[in-house]
Amino acid sequence: MDKHNFILKSLDAVSINAVRHRRFIHSRPELSFNEYGTASYVCKVLDGLNIPYVNNIAGTGICAVIHGKANKSAAEPKTLLLRADMDALPITEVSDKEYKSQNKGVMHACGHDAHTSILLGICEILNASRDKFGGCAKLVFQPGEETSGGAKPMIDSGILENPNVDACIALHVDPEIDTGKLRIKSGSLYASPDDFKITVHGRGGHGAEPEKCVDPIVISADIIHALMNLVSREINPFDNAVITVGSICGGTASNIIPDTVEMTGTARSLTNDVRSYLKRRIGEVARGICATYNAQCDYEFTELFPPLINDAELSEKLYKSACKTIGTNNCILGGNATMAGEDFAYFSQERPSVLVKLGCRNEAMGITAPIHHSSFDIDESCMKTGIAVFSQFALDYLG
Ligand SMILES: [Zn+2]
Ligand SMILES: [Zn+2]
Repeated sequence: MDKHNFILKSLDAVSINAVRHRRFIHSRPELSFNEYGTASYVCKVLDGLNIPYVNNIAGTGICAVIHGKANKSAAEPKTLLLRADMDALPITEVSDKEYKSQNKGVMHACGHDAHTSILLGICEILNASRDKFGGCAKLVFQPGEETSGGAKPMIDSGILENPNVDACIALHVDPEIDTGKLRIKSGSLYASPDDFKITVHGRGGHGAEPEKCVDPIVISADIIHALMNLVSREINPFDNAVITVGSICGGTASNIIPDTVEMTGTARSLTNDVRSYLKRRIGEVARGICATYNAQCDYEFTELFPPLINDAELSEKLYKSACKTIGTNNCILGGNATMAGEDFAYFSQERPSVLVKLGCRNEAMGITAPIHHSSFDIDESCMKTGIAVFSQFALDYLG
């Protein structure tokens, strides 16, 4: 039986299991770096399949390894890493489904329950088709995507070595795309979601005597205005950047000029060049305006995830496997990037990588809520698409 037919034959049974996994995990959501129950469920499924793994990586992370048995003599067997995230969000789920969250205030509102279950389905198929590929598949279940990110500490612990990983793939459910379809975009896909904090130190006093003070509130207004101009006047319109000042804190009463004002914001871009430009210029603008008004300022810029850049060649290969599996009509090429962040970006910095958007929308079923929303849900049949395409790609890539 050829690879494609083998996947088709196993797909129905594997998809039923994946739905079962998803409902179990969905009803027991856990916050970032606390995915203990989820991780032990994943380990139990891997144990049941006799797939070897290392667990407790970077906390709750798991790396399972499936070695192919075909082409043993190949000079350079390849290793493909497939990654899923496991964490949920601090949101109270609004749902009347029987498998809704039992953990009040915590919810799988980003579909990571589906990602984990899809990867377990892929484990099942690859494990049963070891005679159909050479090299090695590494299946990575990572913690903490929604907060500081489990990808980097897992990479730091060595999951890209022994055997050396040649390429990495991941998927994310997308409620803007109909179930049954997926979208592949080469190049920039997610932004670097960095944080900054500016503290303006002026000199406080009576609101009636501003001439005796250095008013940090007025200075902050100028800084915020200048930061908006920074994006519109200094960033090439064909590049992308967002600066949002999300909090500003200063003052206690209408007639008092405070000593300090503190503001925090997010600065996002799709390339490393724009990223380092923003990092430098936000500080220069804030310091420059403060100097103009005889104030001082503290500036902190916290780099979170890097921009996620999909490898062009690998995107092309994945597109071919996807077309073969679900038909060209169901494979969307290109489209826009998002200014949200995604810590799979750390994989894309280290190896050729692709993250694919998997449609999970179903208007007829009323499944249209955006991710991170209390009513978010998926059309579970999307998992079959994810399992089929990624299994096909793994078998194609590992030959
Ligand atoms: Zn999310
Ligand atoms: Zn997510």
